[in-house]
Amino acid sequence: MAETLDSEAVGRNVRTVLENIRRSAQRAGRPPESVRLVAATKSVPPEPIRWAIAAGVGILGENRLQEALPKIEALGSDGVSWHFIGRLQRRKVKAVVGLFRLIHSVESLELAEEINRRAAEAGIVQPVLLEVNVGGEASKGGFAPEALEEALAAMDGLPSLAVQGLMAIPPPSPDAEGSRLHHRRLRELARSLAGGRWLRVRLEEISMGMSQDYEVAIEEGATYVRVGTAIFGARPDA
Ligand SMILES: *Cc1c(COP(=O)(O)O)cnc(C)c1O
Repeated sequence: MAETLDSEAVGRNVRTVLENIRRSAQRAGRPPESVRLVAATKSVPPEPIRWAIAAGVGILGENRLQEALPKIEALGSDGVSWHFIGRLQRRKVKAVVGLFRLIHSVESLELAEEINRRAAEAGIVQPVLLEVNVGGEASKGGFAPEALEEALAAMDGLPSLAVQGLMAIPPPSPDAEGSRLHHRRLRELARSLAGGRWLRVRLEEISMGMSQDYEVAIEEGATYVRVGTAIFGARPDA
């Protein structure tokens, strides 16, 4: 189902989502600014993204390098930052490092090592989140919760990699409440693995919650929510 939204509809959607974020944070007794909206812009052309920026979106999340490049070219990085939220192939790492402010989807130690290597070459430190397979789904990438501690210990020694937190895409659920336990599990995992034991690793950021369940995710501790459909309408391929 392809919807075409106009600038007014996109603006209204952005304001609604920002207001819902504020209310959910309030409900959870958290400061509203502790939750940041990442507008998920896969398959969305530059024009509607511009409308979203005009309505208050400051972070854009792209899934594929090829698709992101012309949009970054068209929209620039003034006043907005670009995050990489999709599956990252090893051979794309060189181009992604430095271009994206935060990579949400590091799903293996090998990928983290490659990012560290390329960031070192570029003379930068690359902020990343680690994707956790909270639902234990065979079809999905990401670290198994049990494997995380050992991986973190290895990544703590990588000087050009800044692990800032965890990310998850819980299994599909018929309603928002169905993902609450997965969100809670990710938050608890971050809490249990944080603490003064790491030199570089920080686990302060939690990227979870999409259009269907971002309010529940915020109640459970999300610091980034990634929202596409609720802003831009249903994607043509969805
Ligand atoms: C598309 C996408 C989103 C947004 O999903 P919606 O249901 O459209 O809000 C969030 N995170 C990732 C990784 C995505 O690929």
